Amino acid sequence: MADPFKAILISRDEDKRQSVAVTELAEADLMDGDVTVAVEATTVNYKDGLAITGRAPVVRRFPMIPGVDFAGTVTHSNHPEWKKGDKVILNGWGVGEVHYGAYAGKARVKGEWLIPLPAGMSVRDAMAIGTAGYTAMLCVMALERNGITPGQGPVVVTGAAGGVGSVAVALLSGLGYHVVASTGRTSETEYLKGLGAAEVIAREELAGAAKPLGKERWVAGVDTVGSHTLANVLSMTSYGGAVAACGLAGGMDLPSSVAPFILRGISLLGIDSVMAPKQLRLDAWRRLGTDLDMSRLAALTTVAGFDDIIGIAHDIVDGKVRGRVVIEM
Ligand code: NDP
Repeated sequence: MADPFKAILISRDEDKRQSVAVTELAEADLMDGDVTVAVEATTVNYKDGLAITGRAPVVRRFPMIPGVDFAGTVTHSNHPEWKKGDKVILNGWGVGEVHYGAYAGKARVKGEWLIPLPAGMSVRDAMAIGTAGYTAMLCVMALERNGITPGQGPVVVTGAAGGVGSVAVALLSGLGYHVVASTGRTSETEYLKGLGAAEVIAREELAGAAKPLGKERWVAGVDTVGSHTLANVLSMTSYGGAVAACGLAGGMDLPSSVAPFILRGISLLGIDSVMAPKQLRLDAWRRLGTDLDMSRLAALTTVAGFDDIIGIAHDIVDGKVRGRVVIEM
């Protein structure tokens, strides 16, 4: 086989039972696309964990190479924007879900899905950020578009010790916000304070059934958890505030009422990274290049290898991964 490379492949049998194996593929096995990239770094997001464990129907075409994020070097291009040697990043666009993804030595994708690696950023930094960090940035930008500023009051971040949460804490504190970090792992209090959290609160405070309106505790929020947690965040947001909702680590439901919206004028801002338009991605990655303190990014990142991906995928859906994991290929 010419140029074989290792890949993780998710398959499904006739009874729709899913299995995951490490295999060897060649470029000829990849799906159609106009740019081929040597994958140099990737990461494990919550969604990758769902895909590999099969706990949610993330993969919608079988077999599938999972992995929604990669950074690497273009080896071949028929797309006018890219040439051999260009350093690129890919986040989302259904890669790792319906199009062969990042957990392979090579990836072939549509050139329009790629963005350039920001100047001064390594492939490793880009994957330490990954979809999780880029989503955290989208949340911060959405709050800003809604007029939230550091002087107005605290911002709560839920699931704070996770990937999106850790980057959100680092970004918001770097921008001057008073960050309230909510976590189920209070043993990570020092870690979260190291990222810039001003206060750390226990996840349980936001876990019960929400009152229509609670005591006003913060002016804004970044929520990665959903369900009762998001309902409580909304009910405790002060008049005119805004909450960016991006995750479902605690559930997909939203047991809330309209009270925060119609009595306090709160805005609920939906955040999607997967199909976000290119200009928004470019803006978010530019902001990450300037606003994210690289020493804090290093503090929230651990590095692992290709052979660790499957184990980490199980750990992340069990809430056992702290911050972000970079996979060096
Ligand atoms: P992580 O697993 O790294 O972080 C999730 C965190 O949520 C955990 O670390 C934990 O934080 C908390 N958590 C986990 N389970 C529960 C629970 N049952 N109840 C309350 N809190 C819980 O995942 P990511 O940061 O990668 O992703 C976070 C969420 O955001 C996921 O739901 C993911 O699907 C979503 N996401 C959405 C995107 C979008 O485009 N909208 C893009 C990227 C992610 P702690 O231990 O601190 O409590």
